[in-house]
Amino acid sequence: MDGKWQIGSLLSIPLYIDSSWFFILGLVTLVNSQEITQLNLVEHLWLAWIAGLILALFLFISVLLHELGHSLVALTQGINVNSITLFLFGGVAAMEKESDNPTEAFWVASAGPLVSLGLSILLFTVSYSLRSSNNSDTIGRLLVYMTEDTARINLVLGIFNLIPGLPLDGGQVLKAIVWKIKGDRFTGVRWAAASGQLIGWLGISFGLLIILLTGSLSGLWIVFIGWFVRRNAENYKNITELQESLLSITASEIMEREFRVVNTHLNLLQFAQNYLLSELHDHMVYFAASEGRYRGLIVVEDLQNIERSQWDTVTLWDVVRPLNTIPSVGEKTPLVTVIEKLEAIHERSLSVLSPAGAVAGIIDRGDIVKAIATHHQLPIPETEIKRIKDEGTYPSYLQLPAIAKTLEDLTKAKIENKQQL
Ligand SMILES: [Zn+2]
Repeated sequence: MDGKWQIGSLLSIPLYIDSSWFFILGLVTLVNSQEITQLNLVEHLWLAWIAGLILALFLFISVLLHELGHSLVALTQGINVNSITLFLFGGVAAMEKESDNPTEAFWVASAGPLVSLGLSILLFTVSYSLRSSNNSDTIGRLLVYMTEDTARINLVLGIFNLIPGLPLDGGQVLKAIVWKIKGDRFTGVRWAAASGQLIGWLGISFGLLIILLTGSLSGLWIVFIGWFVRRNAENYKNITELQESLLSITASEIMEREFRVVNTHLNLLQFAQNYLLSELHDHMVYFAASEGRYRGLIVVEDLQNIERSQWDTVTLWDVVRPLNTIPSVGEKTPLVTVIEKLEAIHERSLSVLSPAGAVAGIIDRGDIVKAIATHHQLPIPETEIKRIKDEGTYPSYLQLPAIAKTLEDLTKAKIENKQQL
């Protein structure tokens, strides 16, 4: 199960633990128990280990409450939370979609750090009053230490996550603010992703500097986190750029004219002999035309319904599917709509029609991937494009239908406006 286990659910949100989280559990238990021993808080080593483990579990609960903060606000906005997963660098609440507007996005992003900071204040207050109640037995001292430590953990969780770069919460907050000011979500993501990349590089450099200057390997951890932030920020940037091009590229820019126009007056036998039998291309698309007008699409499978003995009397007129009944898009239709339409009809290709009712071109999945590869300088070889064209499936690394779907949720209004033009 991709190395993660469901350990239960909260508010009907499934709760998962990634295998990498156990590394943190072990490490934090070790560090905590060593510190407890060094501080002479307990007499027995086993008690130090147990206290260390409990503290590690408090970290787990802290991260969980942080994620629940995000999730609860999302739920109040009618956004489903698919899962909460705890992993090496903390937690992730996987939302079904993004908030509809910058103000709502701001609150979803802020809720996690606000929970952490709130918990930190609460726990510092509790530890202060525990301390002043002058409890000097082992359990009392341990309790003060553990409350204070968990308060510190929550303070760090709150502050660290507010660093203003994606994928951190602070990056989401920055995105929401820029989105609000500039009135454009994409600009918000671009700013926050650029900031995330910069922060990632700063983290990597800072970590390396620590290793070089002090020889301490704790710098390695900062390098790792920096790398994680930088890579995720870059992903955000790439996906946003992809989404933007799915909105800006139109059908007429990527369509091809890989189809044949045949005379509607031909009978089926002539059509079969002159075209089908000599066709080298496996999936050629045929349109029928006569008197200078497109009459419609010829679907080769439709010919099977006609008795062979009648093929010399039945003409293409009898089997042609009129243009207004076939799946099609306009020349100005954005790529995102083309992708979704192609998925919805389960066909290999889609016709592009001009406003005058002529066939302008056809688009298949290969054309779509080729356009994206050209636009984003992705090294997708010609043979791969041909495979996509032949098999009619997208490569696993480019899940365009899923990206188109999220984009549709995000910018429904925008796309509708464009189509009206
Ligand atoms: Zn968060």
